[in-house]
Amino acid sequence: TITLQGLEKRYGETTAVEDVSVEIDDGELLCLLGPSGSGKSTTLRMLAGLETPTEGAIRLDGEDVTDQPAYDRNTSTVFQDWALFPHKTVLENVAFGLKMRGISTDERHERAESMLERVQMAGYGDEDPTTLSGGQKQRVALARSLAVNPDVLLLDEPLSNLDKRLREDMQIELREIHDDLEETFVHVTHDQDEAFTLADRIGIMNEGELIQVGDPNEVYENPKNRFIEGFLGDTN
Ligand code: ATP
Ligand code: MG
Repeated sequence: TITLQGLEKRYGETTAVEDVSVEIDDGELLCLLGPSGSGKSTTLRMLAGLETPTEGAIRLDGEDVTDQPAYDRNTSTVFQDWALFPHKTVLENVAFGLKMRGISTDERHERAESMLERVQMAGYGDEDPTTLSGGQKQRVALARSLAVNPDVLLLDEPLSNLDKRLREDMQIELREIHDDLEETFVHVTHDQDEAFTLADRIGIMNEGELIQVGDPNEVYENPKNRFIEGFLGDTN
């Protein structure tokens, strides 16, 4: 279980995140949904250990990790611009995090192959990543993040650079990968269709606050306030 308690992040005069509290269950796929500037990425970065909260606490399975740096947490993050290493093969990219963890070459390759299979990229191990399409690159980056077996996978708008068709396919695939692995995913998006396709629960953010958390139907049918009603009604 991940517990966020009264989480706050200020940058000078700007309050990016304000009093966010939520519990995320093991194996759950939680989508943080909200407009630009609502504090989604900042929340995710605090979960990853890439930012230190100004106030509040983060606990992973009861352990206080608030001040623990990213490399001490068993979380893995996937960002919008999937930077693959251009001078390494696809397989070496996926195996990279395993090398850092001192795992033997044979086992690294075996695990990387199996991750590539899971993201439907079996047989691409020897390819140069710069020759892949956008969607293929994202699959490889996803495999790289999953290969280290994180307790929590954090995804920050991972599909937003893809065209609509591919994005919709990847949403379904991502959901299948999640169901297969039974790991906890926290997925940030400003796209409500994506959130409703993917999520077990949706958390809606606005102006740094987490306004409502609930299963998709509940949020859709009983929006807690006017902002959510308007935001969900807006189909752009
Ligand atoms: P988007 O959908 O555009 O990615 P977001 O919901 O991820 O938006 P954040 O990136 O978390 O929003 O930003 C929330 C607020 O905090 C914004 O007003 C932003 O300008 C501010 N902010 C974020 N990071 C910093 C920073 N390093 N320094 C100063 N202000 C910041
Ligand atoms: Mg963001």
